[in-house]
Formats: sequence, structure tokens, C-alpha cells
Amino acid sequence: MKKKKPLTRSQNMARIKSKNTKLEIYIRKLLFKMGYRYRINYSMLPGTPDIYILKYKTAIFVNGCFWHRHENCKIATFPHTNEEFWEKKFRRNVERDMEVREKLFEMDISVITIWECEIREMQKNEIYRKKYLETLKNRIERVFNYCEKDISVQMKISKYQEKYK
Ligand SMILES: [Zn+2]
Repeated sequence: MKKKKPLTRSQNMARIKSKNTKLEIYIRKLLFKMGYRYRINYSMLPGTPDIYILKYKTAIFVNGCFWHRHENCKIATFPHTNEEFWEKKFRRNVERDMEVREKLFEMDISVITIWECEIREMQKNEIYRKKYLETLKNRIERVFNYCEKDISVQMKISKYQEKYK
């Protein structure tokens, strides 16, 4: 049997990119159904947000957990070969994300990160999806004060608060 050739790095990146696009399309469709109108890959803004909702000055990034180092996430594993390379690469990604976020905040644009694992959970779990979209809506329309936490984390907090009201 012929051995499969390993993918080159750029082929690998291309794969990851298209995988990410699928997640983006899923979110875009939901947002559209919720009545939002937006630009995609909006290069007029720092970091080229994946989705930009002009009406609410909200930039949304759909982030892969591995590449953007989602904290406490199962998908964000650390490869054990070439550790130095990965560490550098990850650090650069995270720093870039932070810079972009700061620039957007200075422009009074709110930034929402939607993580890959959150989208996967939404695809599987309808109750989660409903709650998530509710929280997302509040974030987009700035019902909440600025909160940097992940939407899933924020959902857990509000559930906790409800319980102990
Ligand atoms: Zn994650």
C-alpha cells in the first residue's frame, strides 16, 4: 500500500482555513436569521473581523481554539514536537489578537470572540444554542456592559446569578 504523503504546512493551513470558514458560515446564517446585516472579512478594520455589524459597531471573530489558544479548552492541545516553534507561533497569534482587540476598543467597536468549540456545541445541543444566541444578542446590542469573558463562561455566570437571586 502506498503511504500517504504528509501535508505541507501551507496545505495544512489551507485545510484549517476552510474548516474555519464552515464554522463561520454556520454563525453567519444564524445571525442573518436573527435579523442582523453585516459585512464579512471586513478589511477596513484592524484584524479584518470575520463579521462586522455596522449598526451595533460590533466585530465578531470566529476563532479556532488551537490556533488562537482558547483557555482551558480541550481542543487547544500543545504539540510535543518542535515545541519551540509552536510556542513562538502561538505567542505571536495571541499577541496579535490582543493588539487588534485594543485597536478596535479604541474605536469604540465592541469585539466578540466566538470559539470553535462553542459552535460545535451549538451544532449538537439545541438548549445550549438557544442560550448562547440569547447571550450573543445581548452582547451585540450591548445590553450587557462590556464583558471580556467567553460567551459560554458568561452563560454559566448568569445561570449562577439566577439561582442565587
Ligand atoms: Zn475552545
